[in-house]
Amino acid sequence: MLRIAIDGPGGAGKSTIAKRVASELGLDYIDTGAMYRAIGLKIHRAGIPAEEGEKLEELLALTQLDVEGEKIFLDGEDVSEAIRTQEASMYASACSRLPAVRRELVAMQRRIAEGKGVVMDGRDIGTNVLTDAELKIFLTADPHVRAKRRYDQLLAAGKEADLETVYAETKARDEQDRTRALNPLAQAEDAVLLDSTDLTIDEVCARIIQLAKEREAQA
Ligand code: C5P
Repeated sequence: MLRIAIDGPGGAGKSTIAKRVASELGLDYIDTGAMYRAIGLKIHRAGIPAEEGEKLEELLALTQLDVEGEKIFLDGEDVSEAIRTQEASMYASACSRLPAVRRELVAMQRRIAEGKGVVMDGRDIGTNVLTDAELKIFLTADPHVRAKRRYDQLLAAGKEADLETVYAETKARDEQDRTRALNPLAQAEDAVLLDSTDLTIDEVCARIIQLAKEREAQA
């Protein structure tokens, strides 16, 4: 059983690469960012300030989150599209520092991965969710390149975007994710660092697949 953890900042190419690697190795792909995005959307819609811990716990207890392949359902509503906006990225990052949210989602992520070969991407997979993953990758890229990739993704999805704003928000989100108290974005000690700035998607995938095969052979 092979479990691959891919962590890194936004726009480094994690989800595109994780999806491709999972399909080539016949593993399940789990996008943990989508879960934070869905909960961020719910909290935003409910208008609950982060400080109101008790209300938040109540809201979470009443929330039904379902992941089916690449689709995500919030209380039965397919929010797979709605969570892909720049605002939703910020709501996700804001809610991801709340202990009640992390507790729920980390438990759910471990449950989904139990007894399965998976590629899971996020911010704290190698350091917290799957600390015993056979392969851990920390995928990064130059911040300007990451912002441009996000911008292109938003335009391709028919959304409005401004490159300067995307860059500023990407930077702010990185900072927020790296400095939060609970499970911050960080490279695990035993993770392999890959910088995708000057690499194509094919090159990054090939490198991860090669590493995965080596780890499998060792095991
Ligand atoms: O990966 P994605 O950009 O969809 O993640 C959205 C946000 O969710 C991140 O900025 C981060 O704040 C949060 N997140 C997290 N832990 C994870 C995955 C995502 O805190 N494992």
